[in-house]
Amino acid sequence: MARVYDMAYMRDRLVPLSEANLSVTSSAVLYGLSVYTVFPVEPTPQGLAAFRLHDHWDRLVNSSKIIGIDTFATTWTYEKFVAVAQEVIAANTPTERVFVRATVHVDASVAGTRSRGLSTAMSMFVYEASPIVPQDGCRLKTSVWRRTADDAIPSRAKVNGAYVNSVLAKQDALDSGYDDCLLLDDEGHVCELSAANIFIVRNGTLITPGTSSDILEGINRRTVLGLAAEMNIPAVERTVDLTELYLADEAFACGTSAFIAPVKEVDARMVGNGTPGAMTMRLRERLAAIQHGDDSLSATLLTLL
Ligand code: PMP
Repeated sequence: MARVYDMAYMRDRLVPLSEANLSVTSSAVLYGLSVYTVFPVEPTPQGLAAFRLHDHWDRLVNSSKIIGIDTFATTWTYEKFVAVAQEVIAANTPTERVFVRATVHVDASVAGTRSRGLSTAMSMFVYEASPIVPQDGCRLKTSVWRRTADDAIPSRAKVNGAYVNSVLAKQDALDSGYDDCLLLDDEGHVCELSAANIFIVRNGTLITPGTSSDILEGINRRTVLGLAAEMNIPAVERTVDLTELYLADEAFACGTSAFIAPVKEVDARMVGNGTPGAMTMRLRERLAAIQHGDDSLSATLLTLL
C-alpha cells in the first residue's frame, strides 16, 4: 500500500491525516457520491510542479456537472484549488515525485439518493507515486465485467462509486495471476484498464479507443495524442476490437498512476515480441521529460506549486 504523507486538507483547512474524515451518514460514504482526480507533483529544476493542473480541475468540475453535484462549482474556483494544492504540498515538503488526490465529497447527512443542492467538502492528500502496473511490461486479462455504459454510470465522470466496476475487474485479473484487467464495452469493444487508458500500435499508427467508447477521458491520453501530432506519429481515435490488440505490434497503458507502461501480454497472447516497443518508449521518455521540467512543453503543461 502506498505511503500517505502526514498532512491533508479537509473541508476548509490543513489537518493531520487522521483527522481528515467524513461522517458515515454522508452521501459520499452511503452512495460513493464523490468525484475526484489524481495529479502528479514532481521536483523540477524550477521547483515542485504539478502536471496539467488546469485539466485536472476542469475534469473535476465536469465530473460533478455530469453527476449533478451542483454546489461544488459555485463554491470553488481554480485559483482556490491551486492555493490549496500549494498549501498541502508545502505542509508535506515532498522530495520525490508524489500523487495528490483531490476529492469533492457530498457530505450532507442522510440526504437520500439525490445530488443537487447538497453540501460538499474538498479533501486533498499526498501519497507516494508508486505505479499501479509493472513498468517493464504488464500482463492484461480481458474482464468478464463490462465497462459501465454512458447510460448506466458514465465512465467519463470520475466518480468514486463507479470504481467498484474497476475493483471487480482488477481483482478478477489479479486472482488469475495477471497485472490488470482489460475492460470491454457492451458491444465487446476495447475500453481501458482499471485505471488507465490503452493505446496500440499497428503498422506505425497509434490507435486508441475514442471518447465515446465508455472511457475516462484521460489527461495523459490527451497528452499522448498531442505528442503524436507534434512528433509526426500518425494517430487515430476509433473503436478498437479485442483481436486488434492481440495482433498489435505494441500496446501500452497510459495514465497518471500507470505512467506509460508497455503491455507485453493479453489473455495469454504475447503482444508484438513481448518486449517494450520503440514507439512506446519514445512516448514514455517524452512524457517523463515534460514532467521532469526538461522539455519545451514543460513551461505550458506544468504549474509551479
Ligand atoms: N481511465 C481510468 C478509469 C482511470 O481511473 C484513469 C486514472 N485517472 C485513467 C483512465 C487515466 O487518466 P489520467 O491520464 O487523467 O490519469
